[in-house]
Amino acid sequence: MSDHAPTHSAPTALADVKARLADAAREAGHDPSAIHLIAVSKTFGADAILPVLEAGHRQFGENRVQEAKTKWPELRARYPGVELHLIGPLQSNKTREAVELFDAIHTVDRPKIAKAIADEQTRQGKRLKLFIEVNTGEESQKAGVMPKEAAAFLAHCRDDLGLEIAGLMCIPPVDEEPAVHFAFLAKLARDLGLSELSMGMSGDFETAANFGATYVRVGSAIFGAR
Ligand SMILES: *Cc1c(COP(=O)(O)O)cnc(C)c1O
Repeated sequence: MSDHAPTHSAPTALADVKARLADAAREAGHDPSAIHLIAVSKTFGADAILPVLEAGHRQFGENRVQEAKTKWPELRARYPGVELHLIGPLQSNKTREAVELFDAIHTVDRPKIAKAIADEQTRQGKRLKLFIEVNTGEESQKAGVMPKEAAAFLAHCRDDLGLEIAGLMCIPPVDEEPAVHFAFLAKLARDLGLSELSMGMSGDFETAANFGATYVRVGSAIFGAR
């Protein structure tokens, strides 16, 4: 037997992540079945994604509309029940394709995008699961609405645009304790009456589950390093 794993086994890694996620949820008194695991397949081709689909997994995340378009229509046709989540920033000129391709968008973060999504949903007769991205670290270079603007932006989405918003999403600053941001996002969602929380990545999905995440977005822990 070699000391080096010849190929990364995504199905094995997936099972491990699922078990750790369930443990973390139970530990915090949450129902493990209430946490959705989004397997983030960005940068990986169909050859890497197929074993995960074969293992029965159906929830996937991509961060680029263009990249998703090259991979997913064919995979979806072969594997019924796929649910595709856009977790990266959306440009308004890509909204039509995004609404066509995806079942959920986690990065609604400004009026222009919210309006474009609302228009496309009407045009296509489709309703996606939508999350408002919150810039919990108030980082100037980062996407997301500032926490103090979240309530007004939610009201705008609902009342002016007729958008149904499911919950909130965040990406904590890399150099800060994620737990602080997860606790903050959970409280903000509670205050706003929103039930879904998209938070937690490979390095911190257990912490996110402890704080009530309903969707975790896990890439490298399943597919290997990018
Ligand atoms: C890439 C990405 C992830 C997954 O990151 P990993 O560290 O590989 O798990 C999660 N969320 C967003 C928004 C991403 O862009």
